[in-house]
Amino acid sequence: MIVFDLRCRDSGDIFEAWFKSSADFEEQAARGLVQCPVCQSASVEKAPMAPRLPAKASGDGPPLAQLAALQAKILKDSEWVGDRFAEEARSIHLGETKARAVHGSATAAETKSLIDEGVPVAPLPLPVVPPNQVN
Ligand SMILES: [Zn+2]
Repeated sequence: MIVFDLRCRDSGDIFEAWFKSSADFEEQAARGLVQCPVCQSASVEKAPMAPRLPAKASGDGPPLAQLAALQAKILKDSEWVGDRFAEEARSIHLGETKARAVHGSATAAETKSLIDEGVPVAPLPLPVVPPNQVN
């Protein structure tokens, strides 16, 4: 089924009507079966339509494939540290351990304190599957 905005050539009213297809509309209109609900005129045409914008594009974000590619790039040279993420990120930040990119899991509280301490951390766009659940 397809909905068309139709316009009555006599009264100028715009109304919607459902058809099986565009061809179905043409056929019904040609036979005078499509009538204006206001003045019953059978002289109707498809109303010029503005393109219907998709409902609120924001919130959808970039497509998943794009995120996955971005994440793969971020993780390429990054070491998985699992639950030790907060600890590792902090000691790297403090220069206590070799500077390198790491990723792992952290609780919301851990993440908050890292940020409070000025440790540069960022959430990954997608959930990470741990390499092989070591430890
Ligand atoms: Zn009309």
